[in-house]
Amino acid sequence: MTRGKSITWTENILRQQADDAFCFRQNPGTYRSKSEFFLDEDGLMYKRSSKGNHQLVVPATLTRKVVRQNHDPVYGARYIAHLDIKKTYDLIAVRYWLSGVRKTIGSNVKNCSRCQRTPNIED
Ligand SMILES: [Zn+2]
Repeated sequence: MTRGKSITWTENILRQQADDAFCFRQNPGTYRSKSEFFLDEDGLMYKRSSKGNHQLVVPATLTRKVVRQNHDPVYGARYIAHLDIKKTYDLIAVRYWLSGVRKTIGSNVKNCSRCQRTPNIED
């Protein structure tokens, strides 16, 4: 590990997973095992999905960041523009699994200053 060298998002998740209480309690298998959680070849923990789109387990320290990235264009992709709770959840669930995700999304969206000023527009 080089001091001051920036790390990628995935590297950051890998590191935070190692210190995460939830991840610590799991007993992940390998990709080929049938366990609910498994580690890929880089050591990243995923939640297995029967549909094949396995979800990367987000450690508690990065939960807020992931919710912001998938709700607020300031933090995330520009096409994301303050979606409501359900749509934010759907977007996150494509790639990520978070412990207590609905609660976290709910509180983030409810406390989002932009969303409080302008009600969500249904499209
Ligand atoms: Zn918002």
